[in-house]
Amino acid sequence: MKHQRQFTSDNCSGICPEAWAAMAEANISHEPSYGNDAWTQRAADRIREIFEKDCEVFFVFNGTAANSLSLASLCQSYHSVLCHEHAHVETAECGAPEFFANGSKILLLQGAHGKIDPAEIERAVKKRTDIHYPKPRVLSITQVTETGTVYSVAEIQTLAETAKKFGLRVQMDGARFANAVASLGVAPADITWRAGVDVLCFGGSKNGIALGEAVVFFDHDLARDFDYRCKQGGQLASKMRFLSAPWLGMLKDGAWLRHARHSNEMAKRLEAGLRKIPGVDISHAVQSNVVFAWISKPVEEKMRARGWQFSTGGVTPGDSRFMCSWDTTPADVEAFVAEVRETAG
Ligand SMILES: *Cc1c(COP(=O)(O)O)cnc(C)c1O
Repeated sequence: MKHQRQFTSDNCSGICPEAWAAMAEANISHEPSYGNDAWTQRAADRIREIFEKDCEVFFVFNGTAANSLSLASLCQSYHSVLCHEHAHVETAECGAPEFFANGSKILLLQGAHGKIDPAEIERAVKKRTDIHYPKPRVLSITQVTETGTVYSVAEIQTLAETAKKFGLRVQMDGARFANAVASLGVAPADITWRAGVDVLCFGGSKNGIALGEAVVFFDHDLARDFDYRCKQGGQLASKMRFLSAPWLGMLKDGAWLRHARHSNEMAKRLEAGLRKIPGVDISHAVQSNVVFAWISKPVEEKMRARGWQFSTGGVTPGDSRFMCSWDTTPADVEAFVAEVRETAG
């Protein structure tokens, strides 16, 4: 492969040094299994500190499990979950939320640039109120959104207030939560429980952990029996410390935000470079670690022929997606931009 690092996805990157070191440290001794180890305890405590809240924390293997099990814990089989039409829970989880919730229906909401239009919540809730249609129960918000945009504190508050008005619980898919916190420069609590979010799926993989996400319940009652749900769903790691220790490494000294800030900066740098090239159009505001842009088909093909990897035609058809990671370097970005300029010229 010509290029060591690519722009396909932040989950194509490796493990960051802080997570790697924590895993190595956790590897030295024998430890209790199934989460009864000191690493898991300390990682959960650290998450409680960061969120300034006595929350319940569970470590699972991936985002699909985190989303679907958390949604299932909020729903009965006759309920529905409202989310953006581009939401990962709708487009990229193979029906796992519906499966784990035993049939809860996903209802789709519209909104520009991947963000839910709050008026859509009322529309969806009021569309049908009869016994023959599933009862709306949860609003699922993706922060960072699938198009890389970031909801402001006020926007999250408005969505959550609207949801609560209609008796809905609020779940947040935070696969790129770190990028959102870094982008907004706010306290993690400000865009979660203080804004009305009940459960957060806090992403680790895309921020530099090998694998794993943390499910964070801000309301103890909602977490009842979630440990059984995890076990039944195949998400209770017997060597749990290897899921939890990396979090400890990541959350120490703000490494998680340092990496997120860096990948966000790389996306900004990429955007600035691409904007100077005639014929390239940036599709969505660049507020996190991704740039969505329209490049012509010939340029796209030439870039691929030169060994560059990125995706095209995902959430916004025709656009290409250039994703930066914790380890993307300014030189990677410069090299990429220079070749887009060459192939476009
Ligand atoms: C990557 C991602 C997830 C998690 O996906 P898994 O492959 O199951 O780990 C969840 N939500 C969003 C928005 C994502 O981009």
